[in-house]
Amino acid sequence: MANPVILDGKKLAAEMEEELKVRVQRIKDKNGNVVPVLATILVGDDPASATYVKMKGNACLRVGLEPRKIVLPHTISTQELIDVIDKLNGDKNVFGILLQHPVPRQIDERLAFDRISLEKDVDGVTSLGFGKMSMGEKVFGSATPSGIMKLIEHYKIDCAGKNAVVVGRSAILGKPAAMMLLNKNATVTICHSQTKNLDEIIRSADIVVGAVGKPKMIRGEWIADGAIIIDAGFNPEQKCGDIDLQTCASRSFAYTPVPGGVGPMTIATLIEQSVISAQKFWQIL
Ligand code: NAP
Repeated sequence: MANPVILDGKKLAAEMEEELKVRVQRIKDKNGNVVPVLATILVGDDPASATYVKMKGNACLRVGLEPRKIVLPHTISTQELIDVIDKLNGDKNVFGILLQHPVPRQIDERLAFDRISLEKDVDGVTSLGFGKMSMGEKVFGSATPSGIMKLIEHYKIDCAGKNAVVVGRSAILGKPAAMMLLNKNATVTICHSQTKNLDEIIRSADIVVGAVGKPKMIRGEWIADGAIIIDAGFNPEQKCGDIDLQTCASRSFAYTPVPGGVGPMTIATLIEQSVISAQKFWQIL
């Protein structure tokens, strides 16, 4: 087989950032240098979550947005978290609100996500946003699957009629990825921890999306020749995803590297959606 195409999320994300810088500057020029804020809420001190929040803050700074990091103790109640979200909903300089997932067990994460106002839900986590996205309405989609779809579009991969298998069904990743692929006319199968014959199902896939969080669980012999491999999983210790690229990449038509594939696209999409939120408010579209 010919050498597979590398779906280079790092490169595309860097190109997106260059363009976003210009758009942010235009917002500032029109509004007396008012700097749009992306607020990130981190509950507790999980080191991986803290790293993700830091990376998102750095991306804000690179394009000229103001990152506002709110760190809350891990003992906080759902109501206390909701009070913080309500304040940010009402803050006219805040154009995006990100609640870093996961939150400690005592918190009702769904209730907290759903408190974020739809227009500030730049990470696409609310039930209302998910429903609207599923219906094909123009809303901010969940950042990781939206980033995946941008990468797919950038590389001119036509999803229509392709068998797409999404492994994982979380509300922020697997489910929205499946709906987005369906909206692009793929025939979609969603797999999860109770799925039987996972290897056989994956072997039938033209597009495989790893969205599990189990390092290298998808192996070469499961992958059909010429499949498109999208790996959203990330294991910070092993610095790898759900798909064993050593055995899978050479069989594929195209694949996302880990790191450098889906991760940078998630951040760039989050930032882009924050910029669009500010542009919409200031009517600079
Ligand atoms: P999650 O909420 O834990 O969901 C994991 C999903 O995988 C669940 O639906 C689970 O099924 C399924 N699963 C578990 N074991 C399985 C197995 N043996 N076979 C098939 N499915 C199985 O995780 P998440 O938040 O979606 O994250 C998944 C991965 O993506 C993690 O590595 C995370 O770090 C990564 N991630 C990356 C980005 C990025 O920016 N690149 C963003 C978000 C997440 P059940 O529903 O049946 O339990």
